[in-house]
Amino acid sequence: MSLINSSGFMEIAIIAHDGKKADLIDFLIKNEAVLHNEKIRLIGTGTTGGKAEAAGFKTQRMLSGPLGGDAQIAGRVAEGITQMVFFFKDPLSSHPHEADINMLIRVCDVHNVPLATNEATAQLLLDAIAQQL
Ligand code: PGA
Repeated sequence: MSLINSSGFMEIAIIAHDGKKADLIDFLIKNEAVLHNEKIRLIGTGTTGGKAEAAGFKTQRMLSGPLGGDAQIAGRVAEGITQMVFFFKDPLSSHPHEADINMLIRVCDVHNVPLATNEATAQLLLDAIAQQL
């Protein structure tokens, strides 16, 4: 399965709930050698994307998740623009935009787009990407 799109790059969406944002940024830093490859482009929900930018990762920012950012990313998945999603969910807190979160997960399944909802899975996916760069 090739993960690089016809334009020659791969768009990865990054999203983290508040309780997981620090973990996601640590994960990005740990994998910066792969993530800074020119074939990888990052997009993210507003706050997550801002933190990734502050950590040195160029990230196209959508709206904040509760304001529709997850829904915007779901739209990009449905249109074939986003090829992979790293969504560090916090299973120990509730979220006002649960409907959007479930919608994003569903759209990934509809379109067979790899979705990691925890760090261990994200690492396995990123290791697979590294083989293709
Ligand atoms: P945020 O959104 O990055 O803007 O905080 C994430 C989410 O809760 O979906």
